[in-house]
Amino acid sequence: MRRFQHYIDGEFSDGEASYPSIDPASGTVWAEMPEARENDVDRAVNAAERALYEGPWAKMTATQRSKLLYKLADLVAANAQVLAELETRDTGKIIRETSAQIAYVAEYYRYYAGISDKIEGSYLPIDKPDMDVWLRREPIGVVAMVVPWNSQLFLSAVKIGPALAAGCTMVVKASEDGPAPLLEFARLVHEAGFPAGVVNIITGFGASCGAALGRHPKVAHVAFTGGPETARHVVRNSAENLASTSLELGGKSPFIVFADADLESAANAQVAGIFAATGQSCVAGSRLIVERSIKERFVALLRQKAEAIRIGAPLDMATEVGPLATKRQQDNIGALVERSIASGARLVTGGRKIDGEGYYFPPTILDCDDVASPSLIEEFFGPVLSVVSFETEAEALRLANDTRYGLASGIFTQNLTRAHRLMKGIRAGIVWVNTYRAVSPIAPFGGFGLSGHGREGGMAAALDYTRTKTIWLRTSDDPIPDPFVMR
Ligand code: NAD
Repeated sequence: MRRFQHYIDGEFSDGEASYPSIDPASGTVWAEMPEARENDVDRAVNAAERALYEGPWAKMTATQRSKLLYKLADLVAANAQVLAELETRDTGKIIRETSAQIAYVAEYYRYYAGISDKIEGSYLPIDKPDMDVWLRREPIGVVAMVVPWNSQLFLSAVKIGPALAAGCTMVVKASEDGPAPLLEFARLVHEAGFPAGVVNIITGFGASCGAALGRHPKVAHVAFTGGPETARHVVRNSAENLASTSLELGGKSPFIVFADADLESAANAQVAGIFAATGQSCVAGSRLIVERSIKERFVALLRQKAEAIRIGAPLDMATEVGPLATKRQQDNIGALVERSIASGARLVTGGRKIDGEGYYFPPTILDCDDVASPSLIEEFFGPVLSVVSFETEAEALRLANDTRYGLASGIFTQNLTRAHRLMKGIRAGIVWVNTYRAVSPIAPFGGFGLSGHGREGGMAAALDYTRTKTIWLRTSDDPIPDPFVMR
């Protein structure tokens, strides 16, 4: 059985406790994970604070930081396959997806390597004589980073990359479910040569490790990805120290298809948008909003594609949909499908967990027209698509915005003036037109409403890991007059 360790203060160490990690494809234990509790968290945060103010990191130039980030990017690229296999093993995300995604993770580190020495301060044209005033941009401080189980290397790269570019130090908490790839990534951080304490990587349970990290008094900022309910705990805990937060949360993203769309392309994008990663994707296009005149044809096309999907072992390159990450997920999704059917939703395909080894659930489609189905409101975080139809553009927009989430959205139409009108009206942080699920280190990513706040990706994300310091310098040699002598 494989054993993993924490990475704290530049050293690999066991946790205060340990726990078994389950292979979701077989439901059996395959590795032992370290578990951080209060003491490990405290050790890691203290190491990050020392590295921030006392160690060699504090004296490094932005160009030197940039070189380390380039080295890390190269190491991620060179080790992408090993990391991908670990992620697939520990979370069930299929190898096709993990290999492609992790190879691309290297590009995020490369992008932020390039940003590191372009974070500039500014000189202010101040309204007083004999005074030079400028802003320095300094690292925001020790950052706590908390990620969920899906795509941990990607979801951490969008935090670690900009935070390192900005000069921060950090404690990264991997999800208790499937932490193997992130714990292994620590070896690359070490090999790249980052000074001890700059990046600390631990794992543990939310209520103990996550909460202890989020409320640690030396943490200046909490960068969190996960569900909205957990985010509320994170915000309450961070309030204790008035630490800032950035929240990347879930979604119930609309996928709008007009009758004039290229239906084959739209169907392929919809299938990828909801069934890739077995639906465990924050941007999953989980609400199909389709023009009524083509609904029957389009849903039949989706059904045909959904039923042709190859479900299988995640390490097999031919597999298109693998297991869910945990039994808890499998049970929750099954229960939500049942509640939706009880509320009147009609099952088009799928709908019941696959019996046998592992946590499999088939691609599922629910027709929810004229039904107040919970599947239109609650996030499944699984391979379940809910369908409603519309007759007018205004109705499509109303349905799209009928959610408290606001992460992503898709519009499929050949009519670009209509697409322009809709993209302005949609309340979501990302609008994809005639495409879906495209991401890039250059493009900001994040949501509205219950999908959180703050943006990851782009230059602005690096600036979010800085704080400004205003410097006033008097340039006159004249003595400063006594303030209490009246003139
Ligand atoms: P979760 O909220 O249960 O857990 C996320 C992380 O928070 C885990 O590491 C967990 O240990 C930790 N945690 C739990 N309680 C905590 C606490 N009190 N204090 C601090 N940390 C705590 O999420 P999940 O179930 O692992 O992941 C699924 C959710 O993540 C979905 O809602 C999904 O949409 C969302 N997600 C969002 C994005 C995005 O970028 N917007 C990306 C992926 C996933």
